[in-house]
Amino acid sequence: MTISVLVVDDSATVRYQLVQQLREAEIDAQEARNGEEALELLRGESVFDVIISDLKMPGIDGLTLVNALQEDGDLSGIPICILTSSTDLDDHVQNLEAGASAFIQKPWKEEVLVATVRRLARVRESTSRLERASRTDPLTGLSNRRHGDATLRQEMDRSRRYGGAMAVALLDIDHFKSINDSISHAAGDDVLKWLARELRAVSRKTDTVVRWGGEEFLFIFPETNLDEAAAIVERFRSHLAETPVSIETAGGRELSVTVSGGVAELESEDTTDSLVDRADSALYKAKETGRNRLLKWQDGELHPVVAA
Ligand code: GH3
Ligand code: MG
Ligand code: MG
Repeated sequence: MTISVLVVDDSATVRYQLVQQLREAEIDAQEARNGEEALELLRGESVFDVIISDLKMPGIDGLTLVNALQEDGDLSGIPICILTSSTDLDDHVQNLEAGASAFIQKPWKEEVLVATVRRLARVRESTSRLERASRTDPLTGLSNRRHGDATLRQEMDRSRRYGGAMAVALLDIDHFKSINDSISHAAGDDVLKWLARELRAVSRKTDTVVRWGGEEFLFIFPETNLDEAAAIVERFRSHLAETPVSIETAGGRELSVTVSGGVAELESEDTTDSLVDRADSALYKAKETGRNRLLKWQDGELHPVVAA
């Protein structure tokens, strides 16, 4: 894996030396002239594994940058190494307390620089792996319920702040227990994995699919109104109903897997629970009225979702 470093220093000479030394060690490096530029790059498209930052810079200095990263959920995991000519012990202590991961004294030794960057990149790798694992359902690779719940909360906040619509759908496999009972639990697991792949294939980049329960999946659709969400889920439902799945653990037998679901749009008084509860009650009704179908809540009433 190539390590990618963001070098932040107001001195062009220092930046040049750092970048040269890192590139010699086959480490990618990009430059920022101050904290403002660094934050702009960090919030942009590039992904950085490690930041090396000067302490004293005009505008956003090293310490302020450390603090800004700590407060930013998406960036707080990137290790930052402070590179400074300051010999003031208080400076060092203050930076470490603020969340800096390492310190290098200027003038620095190339070997120390490279070794520090490599070590911090390893730390970053393993924390990212743990973070990913803590968000993911191990069987299906989808978001787990805890992360799904956090995503739902975030998307609701965002939708309220910016005034866009949002919707959710809760899907549940029909008669799933019979696959476990009549074939095997392993076949049941394979069906869940297969369904997760199908769900990922229909979801758009901004949608989130959550393994909400054993054989229950929550779709979170940001920037999407009730009818748009219902149309996506209905296409998915009918696609499944028409696509038999061949599962190896079922001896290559073709199974027909269908889902029932409920769709609900965010309303002004909703909590995460009340929104999901509405989708759940629609799902319940869809089960009760025959399965392999979807219902949506519209103007306080349940309506069947029909193909567009
Ligand atoms: P319905 O159409 O009413 O939804 O019926 P159902 O059989 O799908 O629903 P029920 O809630 O009765 O059964 C769900 C089953 O899902 C029971 C449980 O053992 C099974 N299940 C839950 N998690 C897993 C899993 O991770 N793997 C497997 N193989 N089965 C699971
Ligand atoms: Mg079920
Ligand atoms: Mg269920």
